[in-house]
Parts: sequence; structure tokens; C-alpha cells
Amino acid sequence: MAKGFTLWFTGLSGAGKSTLAEHITPVLRARGHRVEVLDGDEVRTNLSKGLGFSKEDRDTNIKRIGWVAKILTRNEVIAITAAISPYREVRDWCREEIGNFVEVYVKCSLEACESRDVKGLYAKARAGQIKQFTGIDDPYEEPLHPEIVVETDRETVEQSAHKILAKLEEMGYLANGKA
Ligand code: ADP
Repeated sequence: MAKGFTLWFTGLSGAGKSTLAEHITPVLRARGHRVEVLDGDEVRTNLSKGLGFSKEDRDTNIKRIGWVAKILTRNEVIAITAAISPYREVRDWCREEIGNFVEVYVKCSLEACESRDVKGLYAKARAGQIKQFTGIDDPYEEPLHPEIVVETDRETVEQSAHKILAKLEEMGYLANGKA
């Protein structure tokens, strides 16, 4: 039976977490793995409905995602999380809880995220229509020792995805070179 693990994406809004999760999921499934994606936006409309963006609420949201990822991981599923998860301490708490934990820092300059403005949220944050927006008026704490760093403002989606898959093979979570 394949080993479960959690692939934990962290990074600014628009950095590329959801895109990479969506890109990697079919590749992993084609290799015979069971995969579940816990996308930040989806979690906030379901599991974490009603939570806001204070540090306390953000930490509660991330601990819930971490808990679900933990039970998936122990059932040989690959859990992929795609939430900003801006606070280092709670990410490290999830790492401890889950064990088989691979942190991917989806690194992208604020300028690039803002110019992409995938969901139009940066414009709203700059206009003061959204408060506590990560990178604008709320903190983002970079991971200090992520297993993987992808730099999405200078790599294509394919390059970033390849980097992640290659590292997972190197770490022994995936069998070598099938795709
Ligand atoms: P997030 O989930 O982090 O908020 P999204 O995945 O919604 O971000 O948006 C990222 C945007 O950046 C997409 O439009 C995607 O096509 C683009 N992009 C450009 N290069 C990359 C890359 N190397 N990895 C991921 N996304 C990228």
C-alpha cells in the first residue's frame, strides 16, 4: 500500500497554490495514488464557514485543515492543502501532528501576485474594501525550512510541478520516473 503524506502548500494569495494542486493531482492519480485536495477557499465555505481573518480564526482554520489532512494521511491518502497558512507556528504544529509532511513554499513576489490579481482581491484590499489581507495589511511568515521552494514568478506551472514531483521521488514518497 502506498504511503500517505501531506503536501502542504503555503504562500500569498495568487502565488499559485491552487494551480499547482490542480496540476499535480491528476499526475498522482494516474500513478495510482488516492489524492484529496483541501483548497483554502473551499474549506472556508464548508468546514470553516463563519470564520474570519483574525490570527485566532486563521489558526483555527489551519488546525482544522491540518486535522483532516492528518486523518487522510494515516489512511494512505495523499492530502494536498492549498491555503495561505500565513503563520509559521501553526504550520509547524500541523507538521508535528501529521508526521509525513512536505511543506512547499509557493514563493512569488507581492508585486507579481498583485499584478496577476487572479480574484480581484488585491485591488479591493488596496481600496480598503477588504481588511486584514495577507501581504497588504496582514502578515505572511515565510517558512524557514520548507522541503520544497517553487518560485512561480520565474517558473512555468510545468517547471514548478516538475520540481515538486522530483523532490517527492527523491524523498521516497513517490516511485521514480513513471511520468
Ligand atoms: P493561489 O491558489 O495561491 O491563491 P492561484 O493558483 O489561484 O493562486 O493563481 C496563481 C496564478 O499564477 C494562476 O493564474 C497561474 O496560472 C499563474 N502562474 C504562473 N506561473 C505559475 C507557476 N509556476 N505555478 C503556479 N501558478 C503560476
